[in-house]
Amino acid sequence: MVMIQFCGGAESVTGANYLIDNGKVKFVVDCGLVQGSREADEINYEPFPYKPVEVDFMIATHTHIDHIGRIPKLVKDGFEGEIYSTKPTKEFAEVSLMDTVSIMEHDQDTPPLFGEEDVNKAVKQWRVKEYQELVELGPDISFRFQDAGHILGSAITEVWVLDHDTGKRIKMVFSGDMGNVPSVLLKKYDYIEEADYVLVESCYGDRIHEQNDDRKAILRQAVKDIIDRNGVLIVPMFSIERTQDILFELNDIVENHSGEGKKLGRVGKIDVYLDSPLAIKATEIHKRYPQYYNEEAKKLAKTDDVFDFPFFTMTTGREESMKINTAPSPKMIMAGSGMSTGGRILYHEERYLSDPNNMILFVGYQAPNSLGRKIQDGQSPVYIHGREVENNIERRSVGGYSAHADQNMLIDWLSQIKNVKQVFVVQGDSEASQALADRAKSELSMNAIVPTDDQIIELT
Ligand SMILES: [Zn+2]
Repeated sequence: MVMIQFCGGAESVTGANYLIDNGKVKFVVDCGLVQGSREADEINYEPFPYKPVEVDFMIATHTHIDHIGRIPKLVKDGFEGEIYSTKPTKEFAEVSLMDTVSIMEHDQDTPPLFGEEDVNKAVKQWRVKEYQELVELGPDISFRFQDAGHILGSAITEVWVLDHDTGKRIKMVFSGDMGNVPSVLLKKYDYIEEADYVLVESCYGDRIHEQNDDRKAILRQAVKDIIDRNGVLIVPMFSIERTQDILFELNDIVENHSGEGKKLGRVGKIDVYLDSPLAIKATEIHKRYPQYYNEEAKKLAKTDDVFDFPFFTMTTGREESMKINTAPSPKMIMAGSGMSTGGRILYHEERYLSDPNNMILFVGYQAPNSLGRKIQDGQSPVYIHGREVENNIERRSVGGYSAHADQNMLIDWLSQIKNVKQVFVVQGDSEASQALADRAKSELSMNAIVPTDDQIIELT
């Protein structure tokens, strides 16, 4: 008998954590932070519903913190097995988990969930595998990563688990998070030929993306308008993938490499700043893995530094960051966090939000109640660092840079998998998961369900 337990990620976008047990081997897929509210924060402090010391190994699908953020806690609580992922996932994990430690250390209200020593220990237990490489872990388990096209190194995982009762192997597929198509930098997600059980994400399980063909034109127009009126363009940024997507697009907007870039033409001179130590580190990691890019990006990366262009500056230290304030306009400032819930973006918003000659460009989803959402909705005044700030800035949004597949793409991916006994729809809000399950049932005749938190299901 093989069992799966949904320890996180059921009826929830965040906190992905699945335990699989065939009676001889126990393993975990993903171990993410639960995010989004105070109550969510508290769940992270609860003990795991299994004994970490009994877990033999784990698989990390990709580096978003809602998939890896509790790994150091797992280690702290006794997990000593190996952690498997692709190479970029491991490298990103080290920098983003260390970043998480420093954010937690600055939080006065709650004790840190784990410390630097736990991250270091996790990194020592980490092993890397390539896409397509079949990994055999003794007679009971083998697995293989495929490209999920979501962020650099993100993986769909195929796992074969021996059922000791029948002597047969059960094949499970974990989608991880699936990428939007077409991605700026990455390849399209890989298709899977067959599986007995599929866990599919559903972050956008009930939504269809707007056309993203004109995303570069919208970005270029914002830059051009700011140059024309000698203003300041601020962009709240997500460190991994979104930053590199935007840099890659800016590189073309400034240097005109692609057909589209040439057609749109050059923009004038503007100083561009990336003011985020984590995003800078993530960009360096991207530069080391051009083999993971899509064909067009790979080709361009052979002759050009695709994340660098004239008048672009990365500011790591605090002093360099301060100098941005006195630099002349026009200028463009990208800084974290992506929803303005912390980080250096707050200093820039505090400074530039009250002037209608400036512009803020949203390149990603803004959660309800986040400062980013309040600014986007035009609330005024807003409160930053305890100060009242008038929100008079021009506000624009560009939707095409989402890193997640929408409902059509998820259905497209599912439709190619043969012989599926059951689909478990996870990693979405209840409505989004249910909507995807309903469509998989009606359109693909798949037996799709939305599991509940802590539910244990027997796989045969
Ligand atoms: Zn993700």
